Amino acid sequence: MSEIENKVVIITGASSGVGEATARRLGASGAKLMLAARREDRLKDLVAAIEKTGGTVAYRVTDVADRAQVQALADATLETYGRIDVLVNNAGLMPMSPLDQIKVDEWDQIIDVNLKGVLYGIAAVLPTMRQQKSGHVINLSSVGGHKVFPGAVVYCSTKYAVRAISEGLRLESNGEIRSTIISPGAVATEGLLRQSNRQIRSTNISPGAVATELTNTTHDDMTSWVSQVYSVAIDADAIARAIAYAIDQPGDVDVNEIIIRPTREEV
Ligand code: NDP
Repeated sequence: MSEIENKVVIITGASSGVGEATARRLGASGAKLMLAARREDRLKDLVAAIEKTGGTVAYRVTDVADRAQVQALADATLETYGRIDVLVNNAGLMPMSPLDQIKVDEWDQIIDVNLKGVLYGIAAVLPTMRQQKSGHVINLSSVGGHKVFPGAVVYCSTKYAVRAISEGLRLESNGEIRSTIISPGAVATEGLLRQSNRQIRSTNISPGAVATELTNTTHDDMTSWVSQVYSVAIDADAIARAIAYAIDQPGDVDVNEIIIRPTREEV
């Protein structure tokens, strides 16, 4: 039996691109899915398509920039399936413009979705995963979380932050906190036990150019750069396969970091 089968998986940003491809792939592998995004018509169509192939799937309209809605998504998942095994923190957007255009409202929006949305997702599932003593958070960073692209500075800063969150979650879930609270006798013992009982996996996925709707919000002065970089873009299922690979490992194996670029990508 695959490690994916019967796992309860929440996917944010499931209405297009990487999220949609991941839903289709995990649904076909027997995962129990809870899909989230803002566009309900897209989610309904996807649910129907996955159900048609025998998949187990539900959805909830969710704006990840709203903490209460993200908590409601986690609650609905527990109500529907009784547990949460995996959160794919995938929702994101990439409006691009140089800093000197001072598009502060857009900076706020990028931070609210790409960064705060990821943290709200973790806040919503972590108590359940800790209680279960198992769980897996998969965050979508980017090649832009490894190097900065002019014109996408705020986007890149959120993706650097997502990598930091993935690594921090890994360290905290696997006992790093133990060494910092080890000194005061009884408290240390309690902390040690509590931490060592936790088995939460953390995976950071950093795609290069992928053919999705992400570039639809690019401003006119960035379109020639974007169309050049995205001329070699790969299919969203390439990223879905990487996500499935990470989930499919046995519980004692934590795939922490994957970078996937088009072979012909130059940046
Ligand atoms: P898409 O634009 O195709 O998909 C983005 C998804 O995020 C949509 O389903 C959208 O749904 C959802 N979303 C956006 N804002 C919100 C919100 N406020 N609340 C809930 N959902 C939201 O792009 P991708 O599939 O490419 O993007 C997926 C992830 O992959 C992103 O985090 C992106 O940064 C990352 N990535 C993508 C790369 C690429 O080249 N495509 C490269 C590197 C990383 P809806 O509008 O219905 O809410």
